[in-house]
Amino acid sequence: MKHNFGAGPGILPHEVLKQASQAVVDFNGIGLSILEISHRSSEFEAVLDEAVKLTKELLEVPEGYSVLFLQGGASQQFAMVPYNLLPEGGKAAYLETGVWANKALKEAKYFGNVEVVASSKDSNFTYIPKDYTIPADAAYFHITSNNTIYGTQTQEFKPSPVPLVADMSSDIFSRTFNVADFSLIYAGAQKNMGPAGTTLVIVKDEILGKVDRKIPAMFNYQTQIEGGSMYNTPPVFAIYVSMLTLRWLKAKGGIAAMQKENDAKAAQLYKEIDRNPLFKAVAAVEDRSKMNVCFVMENPELEKPFLKLAEDKGIVGIKGHRSVGGFRASIYNALPTTSIHVLIDAMQEFAEKHK
Ligand code: PMP
Repeated sequence: MKHNFGAGPGILPHEVLKQASQAVVDFNGIGLSILEISHRSSEFEAVLDEAVKLTKELLEVPEGYSVLFLQGGASQQFAMVPYNLLPEGGKAAYLETGVWANKALKEAKYFGNVEVVASSKDSNFTYIPKDYTIPADAAYFHITSNNTIYGTQTQEFKPSPVPLVADMSSDIFSRTFNVADFSLIYAGAQKNMGPAGTTLVIVKDEILGKVDRKIPAMFNYQTQIEGGSMYNTPPVFAIYVSMLTLRWLKAKGGIAAMQKENDAKAAQLYKEIDRNPLFKAVAAVEDRSKMNVCFVMENPELEKPFLKLAEDKGIVGIKGHRSVGGFRASIYNALPTTSIHVLIDAMQEFAEKHK
């Protein structure tokens, strides 16, 4: 077994993979594969219903919100958000905290005006700007809760005078938060929820229908809500595996229990990075992500040999993103604490060798 620190598609619980592989051969003993049944069958409808129900239950989604499982990844949401929420000639506010935030705001420019309220670009996105004002005349304010590439995470969500929209692709289901503080949340499944291929969208119904432009059906939240995420053939398998992961999360005690584990995992790893003379963390201490831990070496020449040692120990996926360098350990929900210990041991062994 490998210790999978990949940033995404990321690690999934082993028992989920086992159940999913069984369902590929014979789904629930019906003599058919999950891959060859109609999305309109009662069997799949039960899967989708349960995925929606578990999402609502785990995140405590209040009344007045719709839960959708769409396609096109988080990247399609970069466009769907302004398509549906930014009126012609209107303005949207964005916080620029990394590459994904930047891609999101670029898409919004196709639909209207964009005000970047603050950016940490000047420091290669090592921190999350906190000193900014959200314009009261913006149609919405968009943030990226966790910056997968740079390893920064919003620790506290500031109240917004306008509808708050968040890309939670890399930290959804990892910690508790108040859904009611947001008007729209989206997340690609492939980090904490399931395989690539579906995107979770949680949208407050009352914010829709306020722009005049015509929106093609597939890009229109209203059509997707009316179709119950089945306006067209949904990504059946990705939704099924996501549902299994949410069942797993519930059985583990839900998000609060998961958060406790995630906090402990991150604390142990950052402690070693701070203690070990060979390594240093990249992100500002107060903004450190509990999902993507980015660190570099004081002596970059040692990076290759450390990667080799890590590989020998079955550690995979820790090479940093090209725009940061060094290492990135993604420590999503399904990564067991034992894998954190294997990485810490490797760091200690390496430091001992290079004293
Ligand atoms: N937002 C964030 C925060 C991400 O981490 C990613 C993917 N790594 C994306 C958006 C893009 O997601 P997708 O590939 O599903 O379009």
